[in-house]
Amino acid sequence: MLKFELLKTDGPTSARLGRLTLPHGTVNTPCFMPVGTQGTVKTLTPADVAEAGAEIIVCNTYHLYLRPGHNRVKSAGGLARFIGWNRPILTDSGGFQVYSLAALTRVTDEGAEFQSHIDGSRHVFTPELVIEIQQALGSDIAMCLDECPPYPVGRDLAESALARTTLWAGRCKAAVLPETNLFGIIQGATYPDLRRRSALELLALDLPGYAIGGLCLGEPSDVTYDLVAELTALLPANRPRYLMGAGYPEDIIAAAERGVDMFDCVLPTRNGRTGTAFTTAGRVVIKNAKHADDMSPLDEACDCYTCRTFSRAYLRHLFIAGEALGPRLLTLHNVSFFQRLVAGIRQSLAEGRFRQWSATFLDGYGSAAEPAENPVVNVTQT
Ligand SMILES: [Zn+2]
Repeated sequence: MLKFELLKTDGPTSARLGRLTLPHGTVNTPCFMPVGTQGTVKTLTPADVAEAGAEIIVCNTYHLYLRPGHNRVKSAGGLARFIGWNRPILTDSGGFQVYSLAALTRVTDEGAEFQSHIDGSRHVFTPELVIEIQQALGSDIAMCLDECPPYPVGRDLAESALARTTLWAGRCKAAVLPETNLFGIIQGATYPDLRRRSALELLALDLPGYAIGGLCLGEPSDVTYDLVAELTALLPANRPRYLMGAGYPEDIIAAAERGVDMFDCVLPTRNGRTGTAFTTAGRVVIKNAKHADDMSPLDEACDCYTCRTFSRAYLRHLFIAGEALGPRLLTLHNVSFFQRLVAGIRQSLAEGRFRQWSATFLDGYGSAAEPAENPVVNVTQT
């Protein structure tokens, strides 16, 4: 059901240009997947998301299971039809939310028992159940249930989470229908030997794609990049690789350079809603007083609807006045910005000038960044 074509591997780096064909359409890689936690990329219509250039989005198993319920979505014809996005969807396994959002009551080899953050009701996510949910949703790519320890974590806990992740991946594979595209998730925290062990154990399952989970949780960037390089060297060239939760432009470029094909993060949407824009010249905090009379667009180099139509002064006014249009326009710009970023990576790879392109991009990106009002959180999704 999944076809991955490796169109080109960069000479000077390990970056790859590819094409992923899925039941609901084609995705050019490296790709960035906007997050549509509850079956919506917050504040945007599916038409907006497509116009921004996104070819695939991530939806959230934990949230959709609790509300509206996977069987209701199945009866409605599947998630793509239900949400009006007739294009590829990747669903995460829900494991991350169980650990980060729900009240986790117990994790055993059988599964993860938790209480809903909505009404306190009790549930158990087993590998078999998260596969059943994702198949009911009709996901183009389903993820194995994994155990994702926080950062930092001791070696013993990292090792037991890895063992459980392997065990659960085997059960997911046994439970999955042949037509479902199931990706494994490599764990092992920041211990290189545990990461290698996790990758090799998952490779034995011969899955159509592999994700690197449990990174971008606050560890130093060089640790992330070194682990990514080590893992992509182990992974088969003909399968897509997905780095979960990497959202800073510099991290996406660094990971693409090390052979990662797929990215997702809540940064463009969450920060858009709180008034931080990603631009060619770095981050812009739109509420800052310096923008009050600035009639220039958010990003001179961007051709999104927001940048074509509105000034920084007006966008700031919307945020100061608490108008709903502000978060929507900034989100639209941010999602477009990340699509333009991965399109830039792809085009420069096709033209054999990825290194030069990324150096130019990063030079400009660091030139005028404003300090964020709030810490920029880098997590997969909540
Ligand atoms: Zn824009």
